[in-house]
Amino acid sequence: MRDAKPRASHFIAGAYAEDEQGDVIEVIYPGSGEKVAQVHSATPEIVEQALTAASSAQTAWSAMLGTERGRILRRAAEIIRERNRELSELETIDTGKPLQETLVADATSAADALEWFGNLAASLRGEHIQLGKDWAYSIREPLGVCVGIGAWNYPTQIAAWKGAPALACGNTMVFKPSEETPLCALKVAEALTEAGAPAGVYNVIQGRGDVGATLVSDPRVAKVSLTGSVPTGKKVYAAAAEGMRHVTMELGGKSPILIFDDADLETAVGGAILGNFYSTGQICSNGTRVFVQKDIKDAFLARLAERLKGITMGDPLDEAVNYGPMVSEAQLKIVLDFIEKGKAEGARLVTGGKRVGRNGWFIEPTVFADVADDMTIAREEIFGPVASILDFDTEEEVLARANATPFGLSAGVFTQDVTRAHRIARAFQAGSCWINTYNLTPVEVSFGGSKLSGVGRENGLAAIEHFSQLKTVYVGMEGVDAPY
Ligand code: NDP
Repeated sequence: MRDAKPRASHFIAGAYAEDEQGDVIEVIYPGSGEKVAQVHSATPEIVEQALTAASSAQTAWSAMLGTERGRILRRAAEIIRERNRELSELETIDTGKPLQETLVADATSAADALEWFGNLAASLRGEHIQLGKDWAYSIREPLGVCVGIGAWNYPTQIAAWKGAPALACGNTMVFKPSEETPLCALKVAEALTEAGAPAGVYNVIQGRGDVGATLVSDPRVAKVSLTGSVPTGKKVYAAAAEGMRHVTMELGGKSPILIFDDADLETAVGGAILGNFYSTGQICSNGTRVFVQKDIKDAFLARLAERLKGITMGDPLDEAVNYGPMVSEAQLKIVLDFIEKGKAEGARLVTGGKRVGRNGWFIEPTVFADVADDMTIAREEIFGPVASILDFDTEEEVLARANATPFGLSAGVFTQDVTRAHRIARAFQAGSCWINTYNLTPVEVSFGGSKLSGVGRENGLAAIEHFSQLKTVYVGMEGVDAPY
């Protein structure tokens, strides 16, 4: 395995920074359970240095032409693409996701975001509004210092999905990765600095939730963008509200996939596989409640179980492997507990259900059938490779059941009936919906949740709205006609 040790724990003001007084955070390779690196949590001095760097850099960065900012982001995208293999290996070491996956889904996605928002930076503008002889115009302004806080499942992508639109708009950022996956965001900071981002524009500091909480309540911070669970989202949203800070909350889900009897079976099974087992099920938008119309249920389950035999489980750094471990031992235990609850509450285990091996945090891909809506596995986010298959009869019935959840992140429908597909997409209570495919999230389209799954949107033009604000300037042309 290549050396995963970072040059230092933090990246502040354009350079690596260290303070060994901070608590040690160990980096464990999920494929073997071995320690591969360590970083130190940010001390108050490190937090202060990062926030000072970001605030000092912000005015000059926002004063640069959008064209110049955009060029730097695009150059960073090129650097990241050139280093795709090295960064993908690091992502695999950090998360345990198979290299086969990370080579095409992580650094590449970060590069796409930097390129797309880099291209947009020069086009950001306000508008002119004629009001008789008077007129007004609006100026699109950055918010200031933004804080990004990441989950552990897509550490490179999350660092860039937050950083790219923030920087394109003229903000600066302090990013805190999850303590489980501290390594990859440092590489995004390195690439941006090498591409010419001035010192302090994009900083990374390590730490657990307490470091995140300190950042969120600092008076210099104008915006917080969190990717994480709903309970953390509630805390961060409340803390941000104290200072009336802008927020984007990308939180958890329990998304439905509806499979009608006229669907192309292979496509529907493929969608359910990608929506439950890619990244070993550790994806927020996964469609973990798979509703299958009754008359195709047996055929669907048989084909799903058959295709899951195609999984190659093993060391995720081996490119032949297409199914890796859970990110951590803690997550392994959480998922095994859910599997036990599924069995205890009467769901039928079709395949999987067990831990595999003693080294690394591997669990078999697991499918439960005959799942009822009120079972724990059908209500709570598991964040692991566990699919719940539920039966349904009619469109009206399944739509009501699909929407009967406090979450609203994503939803999918498989059918050949084009009007039904769009009718259902319209009725879904979810931020991202897919028809006859699942879990595709290109940078060009917005992504985010409704209901408890979050507020705000990442990616697409919508992200610009969430990293900038409008100032209105009214211009009087005829003098002031006061009544007294
Ligand atoms: P957590 O909610 O546990 O943590 C998310 C981040 O918030 C971590 O960096 C964590 O630090 C930090 N944090 C924890 N407490 C606080 C606090 N009080 N103030 C500020 N920051 C805090 O989520 P996980 O890392 O376990 O990630 C899994 C969750 O993320 C799932 O629910 C999943 O659905 C969701 N997710 C959502 C996505 C989306 O786009 N909608 C995408 C990917 C995941 P630390 O962990 O280091 O203590």
